[in-house]
Parts: sequence; C-alpha cells; structure tokens
Amino acid sequence: MATTFAHNDDSVVVVIGSGAGGGTLSHDLTRRGINVVCLEAGPRLEANTFVNDYNTMFMRLSWLDKRIGEGELLAGLPAWICKVVGGTSVHWNAVALRFRSQDFRTKTLFGNIEGANLADWPISYAELDPYYAMAERRMGVTGINGNPPMPQNNAGLVMEHGARKLGFKKVGASRMAINSKNRDGRPACKQIGFCDTGCVIGAKWSTLYVDVPKAEKTGHFELRPECMALKLNHDATGRVVSVTYVDKDKKIHEQKCRAVAVAGNAIETPRLLLNSASSMFPNGMANSSGQVGKNYMTHVSAGIYAFMPGEVYGDRGTQMNGIISDMEANNEKRGFVGGYHLERLPVFGFPWFPSFLKPGAWGQEYAGWVEQYRNAVNMWVCGEDLPQQANGVTLHATEKDQHDMPVPVVRYNSHANDKAMQQHAIKTGTDVWNAAGAKKVFERGPWPASHNMGTARMSAKAADGVVNKYGRAHDIPNLFISDGSQFTTSSANNPTLTIVALAIRQAEHIAGLMSRKEL
Ligand SMILES: Cc1cc2nc3c(=O)[nH]c(=O)nc-3n(C[C@H](O)[C@H](O)[C@H](O)COP(=O)(O)OP(=O)(O)OC[C@H]3O[C@@H](n4cnc5c(N)ncnc54)[C@H](O)[C@@H]3O)c2cc1C
Ligand code: SF4
Repeated sequence: MATTFAHNDDSVVVVIGSGAGGGTLSHDLTRRGINVVCLEAGPRLEANTFVNDYNTMFMRLSWLDKRIGEGELLAGLPAWICKVVGGTSVHWNAVALRFRSQDFRTKTLFGNIEGANLADWPISYAELDPYYAMAERRMGVTGINGNPPMPQNNAGLVMEHGARKLGFKKVGASRMAINSKNRDGRPACKQIGFCDTGCVIGAKWSTLYVDVPKAEKTGHFELRPECMALKLNHDATGRVVSVTYVDKDKKIHEQKCRAVAVAGNAIETPRLLLNSASSMFPNGMANSSGQVGKNYMTHVSAGIYAFMPGEVYGDRGTQMNGIISDMEANNEKRGFVGGYHLERLPVFGFPWFPSFLKPGAWGQEYAGWVEQYRNAVNMWVCGEDLPQQANGVTLHATEKDQHDMPVPVVRYNSHANDKAMQQHAIKTGTDVWNAAGAKKVFERGPWPASHNMGTARMSAKAADGVVNKYGRAHDIPNLFISDGSQFTTSSANNPTLTIVALAIRQAEHIAGLMSRKEL
C-alpha cells in the first residue's frame, strides 16, 4: 500500500520538486529512513506512454505557465524546464560531466571583473569528489565504472573528424548518464534518438524511473503529483513550519514539516522564496543578503548547424553524444576568462528543423537547405557565463498565474566576457564543420535557456549568498536549497551531475543533523 502522511505530521521533510535535485534528495533521505513528502507541480507520466515526437512531448513535458523573459531571453519561453514527475531529468540529454577543481574558485583565479558578481564556492572539488563518484555510479555514467563508452552517431563522427583535422585532442564520445549496457534493472540504449522527448525504454537516467520508485519502495516516501507549492510559512523564530500548496482540484492545503528542501529549478525556487515574504522576511525567505533571484546563469550558448555533402542522419542515435573540450581551460590571451565546450546537438527533427535552423528565414535557397535535412549536423556551445546581480528572477507586480501566484520575470543579458567567448566559440565551431567538408554553415540565435543556475547561491559568508556549503539557508536552519540555484558559478560543464552529487551530499548532511538532534 502506498505510504501517506497526514497534513499535520510535522516530522516529515517536505521536498519541493522531483527532478534531478529533488528526486535524488528524496531517494537519499528515504533510504536512510527519513520520512519525505514530495510536492511536485506536474503530473506523473510513465515512460512507456512517451511517444517519439518532438511537438507532442514538448507540450506534455514542458513548464508552459506564463513567464516573462527580459533582455536577451525569449519573451514568452525564457527557460526550458519540465513540469512533470522527474522534472527536467525526463527531458535532459544526459551529458554528465564533473566540474573541475578550478571551477570552484573562479573569484580567486579571475579576480575582480567589472560587472560580474564572482565568488568562490565554499566547497572544494576534493570535498565533492566522493559524491561525484556516487552520482556517477547511481546514474550509470559511461566510460567509467565498467560502463562502456556510448558509441557516437554519424554526426558525432563527422564532428570528431573536423576537430582532429584542426589538431584538437580532447575530442570524442561524452560521458553520458545513459546505460551503455543493461544495468540497474534498465536496458542498454537502443540508439532510438529521442532522448529529450523522454526515453521510452528508460535507458537514460531520470529520477522518474530511478530515484522516485526507489524512494517509494522504502515506505518512507509520499509523492504528491500535481501539487504546486505556493508559499513557505514560518513561526516567530523564523523556522519554516509548513508549506501551503494547491492540488489538481485547486484545493489549498498546508503540510506541516520538520524541514523543507526546495528543488524547483533555478527559476521556480527563487520565485517561491520571494513569494514567501512576510513581516519578518519582507524581501522573501532566506534573503537577508538580497541575493535571492540574483546572479542567474544559463551558460554561454549558441547553435552551429552545417550541411555535409552526403547524408548524415544527424537525428539518429543518442542525441548529444560527442564533445570537443580543448577550449575548456582558462586562457585569457583569447580575450575572455573561462572556457567552453562544443557539444553535438540533434538536428531536432522535422518540423522543428526549419525554425531552429534560422528563425524567420525564407525563400528558395533557404528551402533548398531545409530539404537537405538528412545532410544536416548541429553542435552547441556550452560555456562558462559570469554571475551578474542584474540577471535573475523577480515577481511581476501585477500579473498572476492560474494559482494567483505572481508570474516570474526572468532577466538575462550577457556580460562582455560572455559575448567574447560566444564569438570565439562560434568561429571555432564553424571551423570544425568547414574542416569536415561542410557546404554551408548556419549560426543559430537565442533559444530558451536550459541550464538554470545561481539564483540562491552558496557562499562562505551570509552577506554574499543564500545558502552554506550544504545548501542550508544562512538565515533559516531548517530550509535547504537542492537544485542548480545553489551554484556559485557556472563552470563550462553541464550542471546536472553536480546537482545530483550535491543532493546526495546534502541528504547525508541532513541525516547527520537529525541524528544529532540539530534539526
Ligand atoms: C532540452 C534540455 C537538455 C538538457 N540536457 C542536459 C545535459 O545533457 N546535461 C546536463 O547536465 N543538463 C542538461 N539539461 C539541464 C537539466 O535538465 C537540469 O540541469 C536539471 O534537470 C535541473 O534539475 P533541478 O532539480 O534543478 O530541476 P528540474 O529537474 O527541472 O526539476 C524541478 C521540478 O520542480 C517542480 N516544481 C517547480 N516549482 C514547483 C513548486 N512550486 N511546487 C512543486 N513543484 C515544483 C517542477 O515541476 C520540476 O518537476 C538539459 C535541459 C534541457 C531543457
Ligand atoms: S537514444 Fe538511447 S537514451 Fe536516447 S531515447 Fe533512445 S534509447 Fe533512450
């Protein structure tokens, strides 16, 4: 029988969000015998109901509630995240890279950069290393722990060929959180090629079919799908005592709690903290530093499409397997600090392809390129962007969503450093495709942000950020942040492996605090 907890049970930890951070944290708390109620705004879909169709699955998975994008972000869809059990781990492309040791101390390395709000992480790589290893084992990351590397598809091999012709060395298959052999009760990847519409066979790691079911088996877990947290409530000492949420029938409930962990992705997490303002916390919860909702990072990005002389079928096989990492290291002679990767990206299938290739383009010549869809290849720039105070999430003064919660306004403008890096990366990517023999290269403009970080960041001092090195709020001892909002800086590496490693570490920390009666 499914486990349930009463609304007045104040012994439970409430986890908000069941994605990469929240799903992992729930699993790791419950396997230690800690009772968890997980509030998840989205519905529970089963993997075997997914269909290999971009449009259909985009509409089923994505968070489409009203958001306002400002600056360089798309106005109506500033960020691409999911509203389903499993969160964006249902949709992600599973590139699973560790941050490097220097990524945790960029303030020390880069110094003061005008316009940037850099800080060192209060945690070192050495501290996170064992948790990275646990995350990699859990997620079945390829190329280590006896998991064979994932074979690249034709487009990956074309990209590798171009890169090697230019003399690049750190080139080849990526580390992927996709089964390259049968393991953990899930099959090996069949190279079907629809990873980001949700993997129908469950080869790709997702909390939907890995961590959530395992948490349920412990008997310490209650998942409440289609339940959206609206507000955190506190007592006279400032401790969180309950969460107000709305269920699928629009009924409002209050769940009491011993502690709360917010993992709504780096847009919804600060939105909830800001919406929990009270007379004691007039600027929102955990916000004495004023840093909640600030420092939003989403990686320097760009798409570089190319057309090869022959058919490549760039959409077949795992979608993002293939990477060039020679530009990852900091080298200020290039005119910017930090580094970037070039990662293979799918072509995104007909009918999305024309609009992704060059939005707004038309005419006979362009139609001719679109017709050569089978010859198309694509790569994505993933580079370190700098935290800036002006980039972030605020609540709209008047616009409300269907639950009467203020709509988030998400603002992002690139720093001059980000722009210099982007131009460098586009040139390198273009050179790679040309070296591979491309007939035509298209540069792709802005698209919805998919790596959301920094809006409730870790800091050594309470004045510089929102949470400590365990993701525990500086201001409120029983409030934790468990997603990419915690990131102090962005690294050039995709964020999810680090989110999972931090969640595993946070669960261990929370369990320790509880057993010592400090929480
Ligand atoms: C197309 C795409 C491809 C990607 N590929 C990669 C990749 O290859 N490698 C990589 O490292 N990363 C990738 N990412 C990013 C990755 O998916 C995210 O970093 C990761 O899922 C973030 O984890 P999270 O726990 O912060 O949030 P999510 O996984 O988004 O989970 C947040 C959950 O919280 C729920 N929620 C939010 N607010 C509330 C609320 N108020 N009440 C209740 N529930 C709430 C949401 O419904 C959601 O289920 C990709 C993202 C996209 C969009
Ligand atoms: S390519 Fe592999 S991981 Fe991606 S959807 Fe197909 S089986 Fe799943």
